[in-house]
Amino acid sequence: MIKSSQHFKISKQKDYLYVINENISLINSVYTNDPLNLYLILGTHTALLLDTGCGLFPLKPIVDELKGSRKLLVFNTHYHWDHPLGNLDFGEVYIHENEVDLVSKPYDVSYFKDSPNEIVRVYAEQNYLIPPAEVIKPLKDGEIFDLGEIVIKVLHCPGHSPGSICLLSSKGELFTGDVAYYGDQFLPKREEFHIVLKSLSKLINICKQNEKVELYPSHRNFPCNISLLIDLYKGIKNIENLWEIREAFDFFQAWQIDDPSGKFRYFISRN
Ligand SMILES: [Zn+2]
Repeated sequence: MIKSSQHFKISKQKDYLYVINENISLINSVYTNDPLNLYLILGTHTALLLDTGCGLFPLKPIVDELKGSRKLLVFNTHYHWDHPLGNLDFGEVYIHENEVDLVSKPYDVSYFKDSPNEIVRVYAEQNYLIPPAEVIKPLKDGEIFDLGEIVIKVLHCPGHSPGSICLLSSKGELFTGDVAYYGDQFLPKREEFHIVLKSLSKLINICKQNEKVELYPSHRNFPCNISLLIDLYKGIKNIENLWEIREAFDFFQAWQIDDPSGKFRYFISRN
């Protein structure tokens, strides 16, 4: 049987920044955006954990050891299943105000019932309803959190989901959540692409104002730079030219289009 220490891969990126990886393809191979990146930012008096992952193995003992005596804040980048399912163990978590309701009730993961992967028994044991954290607090765009020598600003970047957030640190890291990464992209229907593009523009402007900003996405490669945002912006703009080659992908109830660059595959909501 796998243990937490084998499931999570921990790496120290900087003195004040740890990355905790887990592989989401373990649950169902339709998910190819491995690894999932959870981030732990260490200020002098407070630590911030960004996302709690898939909820398969205890994460809190790992975080407690890394944070030492610091107070802990736990944020979710957004409500999609691979980001908040470990919330319960942390007691209190924050998420954008648009998604508080979505993570306040047991999270239904019954769509994994047919997965052939053995690990899914962890969800089966909970009847495919994963309990939420006891206390869920709302985040707003522009809110500031002082961790001690590191200040974190919350940026509301809707599109991927209604309450997706990114975090900008005073040290120059931009944590992009699922708003931008290289890999499979989950997009809203075409009529809402302008919302995604507006959020990407907001991040591009931040990077243009400070060339030293490094991007830390919630999936796959890190750190990235402004090219990721520009590639994705152009790629989404170009989807209209590729619309005729779309194919149905029923598990996600989406249209699938592969970006000619090979950097992205788009799943566009059919609902
Ligand atoms: Zn994700």
